[in-house]
Amino acid sequence: MIELDDRMRAIQRCARDWAQELKPLALELDRDPDAIYRHLDVAAVSYLTRMPIPPEYNDDPVVVDGHRFYGTGTLERVVFVEETAVGDAAMLLSAPGPVMSGVLVDALGDEQQKKWFFGRILEKPTWTFFALTEPDRGSDAGAMQTTLTPDGNGDFVLNGAKRYIGNAARADLGVVFARTRPGPLGVTAVLAETASPGFRAEPLDSIGLRGLRITAVTMDDVPVPADQVLGRHLKPTQRGMWSAVQGLNRLRPGVAAFGLGIARAAYEYVLANRTALTASERLGLDRLGLRLEGVRQLIWRSSIAVDAGDKAAGYLASAAKARASRVAEEATLEALGFFGPGARLEHPLLDKLARDARAVEFMEGTGNIHKLNLFTGLMQGRFARD
Ligand SMILES: Cc1cc2nc3c(=O)[nH]c(=O)nc-3n(C[C@H](O)[C@H](O)[C@H](O)COP(=O)(O)OP(=O)(O)OC[C@H]3O[C@@H](n4cnc5c(N)ncnc54)[C@H](O)[C@@H]3O)c2cc1C
Repeated sequence: MIELDDRMRAIQRCARDWAQELKPLALELDRDPDAIYRHLDVAAVSYLTRMPIPPEYNDDPVVVDGHRFYGTGTLERVVFVEETAVGDAAMLLSAPGPVMSGVLVDALGDEQQKKWFFGRILEKPTWTFFALTEPDRGSDAGAMQTTLTPDGNGDFVLNGAKRYIGNAARADLGVVFARTRPGPLGVTAVLAETASPGFRAEPLDSIGLRGLRITAVTMDDVPVPADQVLGRHLKPTQRGMWSAVQGLNRLRPGVAAFGLGIARAAYEYVLANRTALTASERLGLDRLGLRLEGVRQLIWRSSIAVDAGDKAAGYLASAAKARASRVAEEATLEALGFFGPGARLEHPLLDKLARDARAVEFMEGTGNIHKLNLFTGLMQGRFARD
């Protein structure tokens, strides 16, 4: 069993308190994704506004019980996310801040790019986006067709379409993946600004995690200065798809923690609202509680592996994400079962949790894709079965 140290327990306690502030706002954001603009001063949202920013670029970290937090560690991120997602996962995902792009800029950016990107984030609450998925090529990201081509004057232009991109309609800047030539080494990540000519982001309707406001992005000759191409100082094999995979490995335990938080919210809702339980109901709930603990341990284990740069980290992160999104779907549906046939109408918060759980299944790769990844790794002996 993994036990948290004092520093992690401090952020866990703090996040648990902050979750109480999120709970009463969850249905408001679900009805109106623009509600996020009214809640920027909510503690958990304000915390995310600057997470992650590496210490070299952030001289004002969040201090909890004497411990400094920059949001750069995977374990600290999952501990924070699980606790606050019990309050509302959608509110966290709709918050301004560097989030996914920040992890990638930290991994791939040169000194000047990091200063520029994190400097913009520190100026004011700034939304960012991370654009990898394309229409009809979601699970097969390597088949992407968005292009980055020279403009003839030493800079570049972006052309193509992305889909389901969180927060892009409210963002100022973000990271776009595009192709400079065929093959895996032809994929490149660039910093992009939404105010650039030719960049459009249209919100899409969605039923889960509505606050995140996913969008369809189109890019027609969007100018990209040469100094905004990420990874220029790295070997070609360390840019592009390799970087996307590394970045996603670091983020995936966090997505798993969103799933676990949603599952826990459903479990705790039943505990709080169904006092007289039959013996079999009590047994079912006890089993669910144990499953949540098992998934938590797997998420922590994958986070520790990611932070340690362990070779098996990507596989553990895939296992954690696949398990957590599954337990989120099952727990929310089981919880609805405790309240009879009218549960979705009579318990709107549980209905929202079930919709949010479904959305988590698709974020950062579906369960099928993670199982394929795990199976391939196992067959190739890249990690041990235990
Ligand atoms: C709430 C939300 C937020 C998101 N945010 C972002 C974001 O910020 N940035 C971004 O780039 N993307 C984002 N996405 C997109 C997400 O990454 C994709 O939805 C995901 O990769 C799946 O792609 P798809 O939707 O095109 O489904 P598809 O790839 O079309 O898959 C549909 C179904 O087919 C199955 N399937 C596909 N291929 C295989 C296979 N080879 N073997 C077995 N089964 C298979 C899948 O498991 C799935 O069940 C977001 C999605 C959601 C729902």
